[in-house]
Order: sequence, then C-alpha cells, then structure tokens
Amino acid sequence: MYRTHNCGELRMEHVGQEVTLSGWVQGSRDIGFMMYTDLRDRYGLTQLLFNEEITDKDLFEKARTLGREYVIRVTGKVIERISKNPNLPTGNIEVEVSELEILNASKVPPFTITDETDGGDDLRMKYRYLDLRRKTVQQNLFFRSRLAVETRNYLSQEGFVEVETPVLIKSTPEGARDFVVPSRMNKGQFYALPQSPQTFKQILMVAGFDKYFQIVKCFRDEDLRADRQPEFTQIDCEMSFVTQEDILNTFEGLTKYLFKTVKDIDLPEFPRMFYDDALRLYGSDKPDTRFGMQFVELNDLAKGKGFPVFDNAELVVGICAEGAAGNYSNKDIKKLTEWMQRPQIDAKGLVYVKFNEDGSVKSSVGKFYSEEDLRAWGEKFDAKPGDMLLILCGETEKTRKQLNELRLEMGSRLGLRDPQTFKPLWVVDFPLLEWDEETERFHAMHHPFTSPKKHDVERMLNGDHETMKALRADAYDLVINGVEIGGGSIRIHDRELQSKNFKLLGFTPEEAEAQFGFLLGAFEYGAPPHGGIAFGFDRLCTVMSGQSSIRDFIAFPKNNQGRDMMIDAPSDIHDEQLEELSLLVNIKEE
Ligand code: ASP
Repeated sequence: MYRTHNCGELRMEHVGQEVTLSGWVQGSRDIGFMMYTDLRDRYGLTQLLFNEEITDKDLFEKARTLGREYVIRVTGKVIERISKNPNLPTGNIEVEVSELEILNASKVPPFTITDETDGGDDLRMKYRYLDLRRKTVQQNLFFRSRLAVETRNYLSQEGFVEVETPVLIKSTPEGARDFVVPSRMNKGQFYALPQSPQTFKQILMVAGFDKYFQIVKCFRDEDLRADRQPEFTQIDCEMSFVTQEDILNTFEGLTKYLFKTVKDIDLPEFPRMFYDDALRLYGSDKPDTRFGMQFVELNDLAKGKGFPVFDNAELVVGICAEGAAGNYSNKDIKKLTEWMQRPQIDAKGLVYVKFNEDGSVKSSVGKFYSEEDLRAWGEKFDAKPGDMLLILCGETEKTRKQLNELRLEMGSRLGLRDPQTFKPLWVVDFPLLEWDEETERFHAMHHPFTSPKKHDVERMLNGDHETMKALRADAYDLVINGVEIGGGSIRIHDRELQSKNFKLLGFTPEEAEAQFGFLLGAFEYGAPPHGGIAFGFDRLCTVMSGQSSIRDFIAFPKNNQGRDMMIDAPSDIHDEQLEELSLLVNIKEE
C-alpha cells in the first residue's frame, strides 16, 4: 500500500494513529539529531519528523540522503507538533517516521517548486512537469476543470447536447490564418484545422439538433500575445429558432451561474452597449467598465480659438482623471506624454488641464485659451477641484484608440481596476462589414455567416457601396473587465443572402461554391433560423480568477514563437515522411 492518507489530510484527530504517506520531498531541515522534512502531494504538505534517538541509525542516515523532489513512502505515527504552523491545514501535527522507502530519486530541479518560484518563463516551460507541481499552477487547472464541469451542468440542464465535430476539416474563416495538415492519401491536398466549428454547428442546426454545445479546441495561426495561443478552447454553442435576445439571455444565464457556483458571486443584470457608443465613450469595442472616465468630445469648445493643432484635428477628445491634479508635476506629465508617444501608441502630444485644489487652473495650452474657456471644458467633463483633464486630438479612429490606452493606464494608476471586481456587459449591433482601405475589400466584422439586422436585409441585397459600410449585424460580444470573453451572431439561413455576402467579401461564385458549397447546399434543404455564440474558455478562466495570462490556465501552453518548449515542437521531419506526403521538393530535378 502506498498510502493510508494523502498529504493534506491529517489533523489533531489522527494523533496516535499509524499512517502511510507517499509524495515528493519539498525540503528538509537537519538540526543534528532530528530532521524535519516536508512531504508534498496534490492535496497538501505534511511535516515528517526523523528522530535519531527513537529510530534506528540506518533509517536516519537514509533520510539524510533525501534531496528535493525525491519520491518517497513513509510510515509513522501522527503526533502533535510542539511548534504549530497555523498557516498550514496540517500544521498541528507531524508524522514521526519509522519506515522510509525511496521510490525514486530526483535530480536537483532547475527552479524551486514553491508558490513563488524563482524559475523564469522559458525554464518553467521547458520543465513544465515541474512547474505543474506548483500549488498555484495546479489550482488554476483545478479551477478550469471545475468551470468545465459547471458549464456542462448548466448547458445540459438547458437542453443542449454536446456533439464532437471533426478536427481535420476545410478552412472555416474566422479572420486568422489556417494551420494545415497534408494528406498522405490525397496527394498534394491539405486539411485545415478548425479556427472554430462554425460551419459544422450550423449544419447541426439544419439537421435539427436545436441546441448544440461543445468544449472544443480551435486553432488559429496568428501572432501571439499574452492573451492568445495558437490552440485554445471555446465553449461553442448554437441554437435554432432564436433571436439575439434569446441567445443573450441564455449565455448571460450561463455566466451568472458560473460566477455563482464557482465564486459565490451574484452578478446583476448585464448592461448592453451599442458598438458605436463603446467606441465613442471608451475608444474600444471591449470597454473596461469597472471605472468611469468616459471620453468627452471637445470639438465644439476647443476648435476655432486659434490653437492650430486642435483647429486642424478631426477630433479633440479627453478624459478626466479624478484627483490626479496634485500628483502630476510637470516632470510626471512629461513622462506620461513620452509614454503616449512610444511607437506602440504613437500619440503626437498630450494636453492637460489641471483644476487645482486651491481653485486655480493650469494648462499646457493656457496661451491659447482663457481661464473661462478652460473652465467651460471642465464643466463639460464635470471636473471637480483636484481633477486633471488629459486631452488628445487627431484623426477620429486613431485618437480614440490612443485615448483608450491612456484611459486604461490612468485607471490602473488610480487603482480603479481591481481584478476581483467583475463588470460584464454585452456590446451589441456590430457593423456587418469592415472596409479595408489598403486592399480595397470588405471584411466580415464577425464572420461571413453573420446575418445583417432584419431591417438591413433589403439594403444589403440592393444597396450601393456606401450603404454596405453602414449595415449593422445581429452580432454581439460578451465583455468582462475589458476582456472579450465571447462573441456570436444570428446567422444567415438563406442561400441567396449568404451568396450575396460571399460576393461582397470578394469570393467569386466558383470560389464560394468550392469552399462553402456544402453549407449553401444545406440551406436549400430547410435551414431553420439559427444563431450562436462561443466563449473563449481559457480567457474566461483567467478573468474569473482575476489573472491576466491565459498560459497559466493551459496545462501545456506554447511560447511567444508558438513553440512547445517541453516537447520541442514544431520540429523537422524525415525526408521519407516528406516524400510520403508529397512535400519533398527535389532540388536536383528543378
Ligand atoms: N465561431 C465564432 C467564433 O469563433 C463564434 C460564433 O459566432 O458563434 O468567434
């Protein structure tokens, strides 16, 4: 028998019992005639006591050879500790060891396996199995598992069926590049890995499944960031005979249920915000609404007063940083301006207006505007003594983006972004299409299967180019704390409209047929009205835990270059394998 109890289990009530434990050696303190060793497993830590005076010499010598991360089995008596550790659930007891077996030795690990490890990212990724021994990382994965179970509980109760869709498919465009897999049996041809199960879940609706879900891996070949991975997991759903309202209600229900069951948090009804308002008030389609600091546009007050920079700008817009006036010296403002001018943000400059506690007003554009002018700005922002306005100007879209960065930064500096405060909202009424000036093409803002709003269908079928830019979609995102948790749409279920959409997106009828003929075909056999949504599961875990890196919630993540450092993938393959796949380019022949 390897164990009678686990390492997190023993308490005062076990004192006097003989127990057997197995686990890893966390560390030892040798005080001459006695040695204390911490034994660790998934469930906790238990202190072992080797006492030279009562055990035999051999056992004591053997204990002295134990290194960190050795795997051992011990048998001994549970005794009350003299100096108790109130921070440890097992801190009242220790096990006085009478038998010790070394089950496996360990090399000295390259970093310490503690909550706060000394291992850098690369090292931790390479030795992921050691990193995964750490309690903090394990708890993230337990949390993830719990969330998956509760998701299944809720959706099953709501009548959703879990259906697995294939991984070797044909491209489903979600706006990223495909990962492809060469086919050996069909020489020169390739499968694509799904960017999402989008077309399959729509086909399941045509097949009458009514409510589908799947916790599913998706693959997108994109440049990576802290909140992106080339393979990630979605809670993917689709429903038939529904309106946008039905979908929002169902998935607001899921989100509330998860917060309640997993975190015991009751979330109030989720506010809804139009996409246009999100951009106007926050400069982002995923606003962090844990704090206000909404944008205020100043064109009417700031232009036409002889300050050429503002006069020539399309938009003059700012935020009010509450209580910040006293904390920002000229030097601090200079630093903040430089931060805004970094290439990542690329602002030209930053204008400030301070409404000081003593009632005075100070501004970097004081030469151009009277105090009365500046006070009128202050009124528009509802600024109080002690507040500071920060103002940008330029081309509308760009300026809003820059001010979004500044707002988030000021929110962080003012301590307004507590990771354990949760502010979900729905952003609705996204545009259907996005015009790309460079390629002179429309892109689908969500994906090509998204339906325009009912009152826009006619305009979509018959309107001119400019009309297309203004079309709105039944498309929605769930945003929590400035993170896009999920998105979805009501779909087109009509062949003619779907063909029109492909055409607008630049597909020739032949291309559309080759790529999506199966879906267009299915639409001819009684496709019901349908719609759906997908949540980024890794992101949901991360945000609900109040953390910021999805990697910490993925057992075996990839690094910024898309590499798995542990198994060292991607890697070369043999020429024979390349040949088999018809991928070997014979240079000599060329
Ligand atoms: N397939 C979409 C996505 O991956 C979600 C949806 O529209 O249901 O974002």
